[in-house]
Amino acid sequence: MNTPYTPGIAPQRLSADELRENFADLHAPLDGHEAAVAADRCYFCHDAPCVTACPTDIDIPLFIRQIATGTPEAAAKTIFDMNILGGMCARVCPTEDLCEQACVREIAEGKPVEIGRLQRFATDKVMAKGVMPFGRAAPTGHKVAVVGAGPAGLSCAHRLAVLGHDVTVYDASPKAGGLNEYGIAAYKSTDDFAAREVEWLCSIGGIEIKHGFSLGDGLKIDDLVGCFSAVFLSVGLGGVNALSVDGDDKDGVEDAVSFIRELRQAADLSSLPVGRNVVVIGGGMTAVDAAVQSKLLGAQSVTIAYRRGRDAMSASRYEQDLAASMGVNLLFNAQPKAIHGNGTVAEIELEFTSTEGGKLAGTGETIRLAADQVFRAIGQTLTSDGGLELNGRKIAVTGAGRTSRKGVWAGGDCASGGDDLTVTAVAEGRDAAMDIHATLMEAN
Ligand SMILES: Cc1cc2nc3c(=O)[nH]c(=O)nc-3n(C[C@H](O)[C@H](O)[C@H](O)COP(=O)(O)OP(=O)(O)OC[C@H]3O[C@@H](n4cnc5c(N)ncnc54)[C@H](O)[C@@H]3O)c2cc1C
Ligand code: SF4
Repeated sequence: MNTPYTPGIAPQRLSADELRENFADLHAPLDGHEAAVAADRCYFCHDAPCVTACPTDIDIPLFIRQIATGTPEAAAKTIFDMNILGGMCARVCPTEDLCEQACVREIAEGKPVEIGRLQRFATDKVMAKGVMPFGRAAPTGHKVAVVGAGPAGLSCAHRLAVLGHDVTVYDASPKAGGLNEYGIAAYKSTDDFAAREVEWLCSIGGIEIKHGFSLGDGLKIDDLVGCFSAVFLSVGLGGVNALSVDGDDKDGVEDAVSFIRELRQAADLSSLPVGRNVVVIGGGMTAVDAAVQSKLLGAQSVTIAYRRGRDAMSASRYEQDLAASMGVNLLFNAQPKAIHGNGTVAEIELEFTSTEGGKLAGTGETIRLAADQVFRAIGQTLTSDGGLELNGRKIAVTGAGRTSRKGVWAGGDCASGGDDLTVTAVAEGRDAAMDIHATLMEAN
């Protein structure tokens, strides 16, 4: 057994009990009484600002009223009508930046209605019973291919199945769910929820998921266009940006997404090695998740170094505070300059920055932090674009996900215009499905 003070990168820094406690559900689910009390705080606003702030446009006052009147199954149906991954979104949505930030009770009292937890209360009830509250329309005879079984692809596939189309989903990974399965922090999605949600979603029928098929590597878009009435691409962002500083090839410099992927798939968390001193470079959710989970695995010291100020971080203030509450140090206005060590990382040298005329520049002042493990969390990139037109570094889409190629739609993180959140991916998958359906029915 090691301890948080064991030098280098080592497994078993904490006991099995400590790890179980550390990786338990971040927010305990509401019980019936707590849900009734929370629902009672809603004013059921007309033109509710919380709905406008929800990327999937869920009728929030309606579902809260349905909980308040003792019909959580009806509340769940209201949620699933707009967001079939409402169960996962209830766990991972940055509600503090979306619906709960817009809630009139947040504005008046600094304490919003707990929309996320109420959503979880309702959706969990229905999913626990294994009930799929949708049926399928009469078969249309159309077959649609979806490439990528993450939130965007699953949402698109489910809506298409409801509308009577047969869907084949191709995915490069051995499990479906995309980042729900491989990326979201373990304490947000416990008890194999991502896999259970996929199974529940597919119980609608008409969706076949084929694993081990990779677009650009065996799976060709020309073949898909030839065999299917429509194609939806939802391959996410599989690549990770490089640090590009001296020493970034040393042992111990790793990409944060791979670390999290390994953690999410580990049968035994104590087997997962983590550094004594961990430094994470980046300012988004990936950086926060890698840092918090390193700390929860037993790293002695964990620092997030971000090149700009706190307000520019894409991780919300809530996520930043969560990291700080777990003992993660947040270092702002510091960018990596070099990584030192004899073959293996021992220290990271950071240069302080300032912003002048909107441009970020190093000040020349540096500090060195002890580091056994350095995680890169400075953004993900598109790895397969299917030969489609790009907008910046993503697949260019107009309206409801139409790409430059007729018959091919795209949505989620791989497509231009979104904000790289689970809920946005779900909305884009759903909207593309509706557009695909309208297009196919028009052509009939
Ligand atoms: C570490 C991390 C933590 C996050 N935490 C949160 C959070 O707490 N809340 C939140 O709202 N958002 C969070 N996000 C963002 C969120 O996970 C994504 O916005 C969302 O998963 C995007 O969904 P998607 O379907 O577009 O792509 P993905 O979830 O990335 O799914 C893409 C799917 O395509 C497959 N695929 C990839 N390439 C190919 C190929 N060439 N051929 C076939 N299949 C392929 C993949 O295996 C995967 O199944 C987080 C992201 C990361 C990286
Ligand atoms: S803004 Fe708040 S109080 Fe108003 S309907 Fe939405 S959740 Fe209820």
